[in-house]
Amino acid sequence: MAIQGERIRVLNDVEPREDGAYVLYLLQQANRASFNPALELAIEEANRLDLPVVACFGLLDGASGFPEANARHYAFLLQGLADAKAGLEKRGIGFVMRKASPAKVAIDLAKDAALVVLDRGYLAIQKGWYAEIIKAVKVRIVQVEGDVVVPVETASKKHEYAARTLRPKLNRLWDPFIEELKPRKPKHAAETLKLKSAIDVSDPESVLAGMTLDREVGPVKRFIGGETQARKRLKAFVADSFAGYGAGRNMPEAAAASHMSPYLHFGQISPVEIALAVREAKIGDDDDRGAYLEELIVRRELAMNHVFYTEGYDSYEKAVPDWARKTLAEHAKDERPHAYSEAELAAGETHDLYWNAAMREMRETGYMHNQLRMYWGKKILDWSPTPEEGFARTLRLNNRYFLDGRDANSFTNVAWVYGLHDRPWARRKVFGTVRYQSENSLKKFDAKGYVKAVENLCAAEG
Ligand SMILES: Cc1cc2nc3c(=O)[nH]c(=O)nc-3n(C[C@H](O)[C@H](O)[C@H](O)COP(=O)(O)OP(=O)(O)OC[C@H]3O[C@@H](n4cnc5c(N)ncnc54)[C@H](O)[C@@H]3O)c2cc1C
Repeated sequence: MAIQGERIRVLNDVEPREDGAYVLYLLQQANRASFNPALELAIEEANRLDLPVVACFGLLDGASGFPEANARHYAFLLQGLADAKAGLEKRGIGFVMRKASPAKVAIDLAKDAALVVLDRGYLAIQKGWYAEIIKAVKVRIVQVEGDVVVPVETASKKHEYAARTLRPKLNRLWDPFIEELKPRKPKHAAETLKLKSAIDVSDPESVLAGMTLDREVGPVKRFIGGETQARKRLKAFVADSFAGYGAGRNMPEAAAASHMSPYLHFGQISPVEIALAVREAKIGDDDDRGAYLEELIVRRELAMNHVFYTEGYDSYEKAVPDWARKTLAEHAKDERPHAYSEAELAAGETHDLYWNAAMREMRETGYMHNQLRMYWGKKILDWSPTPEEGFARTLRLNNRYFLDGRDANSFTNVAWVYGLHDRPWARRKVFGTVRYQSENSLKKFDAKGYVKAVENLCAAEG
């Protein structure tokens, strides 16, 4: 199947260089060797130019590390890269990894390339790298979107007000984008190039050991990185637990969630591959399918829309809508029902044993079910001295402990707690007219069973 034209953008007005030695693919957002449109386009172009493909990766380390990334995130990333490297080399594609920014590695290796292919992410740091590459690289640069179902600018040309405004647009557009992507066969293997990789990621643990980073938040056993693992989980999900997702997705104990978010965040699986698997699942009904695609496409791509069209999506002033900031300011001096420091929150030392269990699941295993994330976030607003401080704390904790943190979904959902993509509700203390979530919401599921499940999960972490 051809790669949809809407996914492809030529970033400069230059023809491919005739004496280039390879087509260069900067692996950055889509960290996988299959179901990756940027990689497949690189192979198509290389075959047309009679050249091999070289993929490269820039590993940020030490003071110039990826913002807020710690050993937990890097362990998962490196496991995924080891998997991607093996997959690429099996296909005859070279893999070069260096300790430098992705832009620097790409600019360096582009000197001998006929053409550069980029994949695409929507965070500010990624946009910055693309701008650097466009400025410095003198050969043709093509960018291919492969980590959303409908490319963000195709779905909408503006910041969307809420899910209800984006949903009809996506529903109308998504069918032609949910398509199989067959692997292309490279005509020329890259082995002959003898390009040296400064880092051998085949042993991810030793690469991790050699990095300068925050090790206070360590790797987890619950999630192992890589496309092989992602596919294994997806297969099990659509074979065993997907039936009932529609009714069970708000019940943490129903085990209906797919746990795809860490893999999606690190680009270790394509959302299109997930959507196809769900559509073709032998179990589940239309309600389950509809509910899952609503989360995977509408909610996730609403988050992409938000970060793409909001400069300063990580700041309270820019990310939270005017009406919500106004009502929260009117209630900023309301007496808080409980007051905790950020350290007490991080340690899960509050009066609320369910909240503490959720915090523990996040701190020790890197994940939390959506239903609890909403409760968790709303309570931090309730227990913080000001809404601004609550927002900053929530984002810091979210991005420090969740494996899927630092994602478009992180910034958007934390802002949701403060009123983004929502409407005014009945007025109450602290929240004003921003949606409140009470302890009663825990009665909708087996909260005691959840606490027990967290104990088991944490015991398995050792
Ligand atoms: C306060 C708060 C913070 C959050 N922080 C993050 C975060 O840092 N990273 C992150 O990826 N998600 C975040 N979410 C959204 C959501 O909770 C997670 O994506 C989901 O729980 C991941 O688990 P899963 O893959 O098992 O989900 P499933 O229920 O199996 O859903 C499948 C996929 O749909 C998408 N999805 C599901 N729920 C949402 C949602 N509410 N908004 C957007 N996309 C969704 C995700 O990509 C998910 O992997 C947050 C939600 C809240 C309320």
